[in-house]
Amino acid sequence: MAKHQFQTEVNQILQLMIHSLYSNKEIFLRELVSNASDALDKLNMLVLTDENYKNVNFAPKIDISFDKEAKKLILTDTGIGMDEADLISNLGTIAKSGTKAFLDNLSGDEKKDSQLIGQFGVGFYATFMVADKVEVTSKKAGTDKAYTWTSEGTGEYDLVEAQQEGHGTTIVMHLKEDEGEFLEEQRLDSIIKKYSNHIPFPIFMDKEHYVAAITDDDGKETTPATTEIKNEQINKANALWTMSKSEIKDEEYKDFYSTVAHDSSEPLTWMHNKAEGTVNYTTLFFIPEKAPMDLYRVDYQTGIKLYINRVFITDDEKELMPTYLRFLRGVIDSTDLPLNVSREVLQSNPVMTKIKNASVKKVLNELSKMMKKDSEKYSKFYAEFGNCLKEGIYSDMGNRDKLLELMQFNTLRVSNIYKLIFFIVCNHWENDSINFFI
Ligand code: ADP
Repeated sequence: MAKHQFQTEVNQILQLMIHSLYSNKEIFLRELVSNASDALDKLNMLVLTDENYKNVNFAPKIDISFDKEAKKLILTDTGIGMDEADLISNLGTIAKSGTKAFLDNLSGDEKKDSQLIGQFGVGFYATFMVADKVEVTSKKAGTDKAYTWTSEGTGEYDLVEAQQEGHGTTIVMHLKEDEGEFLEEQRLDSIIKKYSNHIPFPIFMDKEHYVAAITDDDGKETTPATTEIKNEQINKANALWTMSKSEIKDEEYKDFYSTVAHDSSEPLTWMHNKAEGTVNYTTLFFIPEKAPMDLYRVDYQTGIKLYINRVFITDDEKELMPTYLRFLRGVIDSTDLPLNVSREVLQSNPVMTKIKNASVKKVLNELSKMMKKDSEKYSKFYAEFGNCLKEGIYSDMGNRDKLLELMQFNTLRVSNIYKLIFFIVCNHWENDSINFFI
């Protein structure tokens, strides 16, 4: 058995999971389902676009099962899976800048830190909030070896070769003594419906059903009442953004935000738009209530996922929207882009450019409406993201006027003369000097 040490940052995260996170533990399931859904997304794209994967059987499915006696909760997906190197780098180290920024921001003051934790997308390591041992068995699609990663969350993990039929990943959580609620069918069902109802793939779980007793004509019981187990799909799996606005409740938008942004707070607002015409696309954008911790880092994590006709393409493309709108979270889905679009093509693709330009206008118009109709909400927005928006005044000449209207000095009733002065200053002065004026 090969033992491996966790990277220092992973240890820090694990310590937090084990000792400091006591509220809202249910989000571990949201994080695991989201990972499983991402793994299915990745395989879906490869099967459709990469010759090497054309013989891989893509049967997308997530399964949840539990064993009350053994206190085990098990989640399986038929996604891309991980090989040995993936397991070491994905579940032993942390590359994400957001996580590093989060750790840098911890003060040691429990009260302050617990507020930060609320803003932080927790990921796979959240399993250790509820489990004292976790086993991950995985086989990468297109390879023939499976591996099991096992850890008790204390400094190290084991990695051994394993047996597994098809590709995909199975996560076995040995739940802590007092986490029995996550072995209850109804509790699991309601968590899945809350966070994962509208992910694009089906989630199945065994459900127990009551079967009434059978009686004869005299009312005598011939077969006693019993229960039977049926394996059922428990989420709608209908990609929320593809539904029409009138069908979606506010709660559903909020729950979807929580999954797409890995954020347990409610979003400040959202914008759902379907465009049909020369270019067909749907966008669903959320503005978070609080700025993500890596907002001003060069290596910030993007928050927009690109889909082409419901097939996931990327969530790591900084050009999908302008940098000054990097606080947006959500989805762009278009039927008019080729599935095998490369990053270079994406950046110069006229369809993508049209979607981007129209989406920016839409977002700025929505912000403008918010400023006029709900100044309190706009002030909240501006306090978090105003500085980010200001960057657009230099980088997006086409929308400069609109952006200037959105500057908060407007709400301070600075007259139009000041506005004009500001405009001139913007043209000639350095960024820092402008902050002085606002
Ligand atoms: P995040 O999902 O935010 O990147 P996580 O800690 O949840 O962070 O997961 C780390 C990485 O592990 C993922 O980015 C992914 O590459 C890999 N991973 C996690 N779960 C799975 C899974 N079920 N199938 C394939 N890869 C996975």
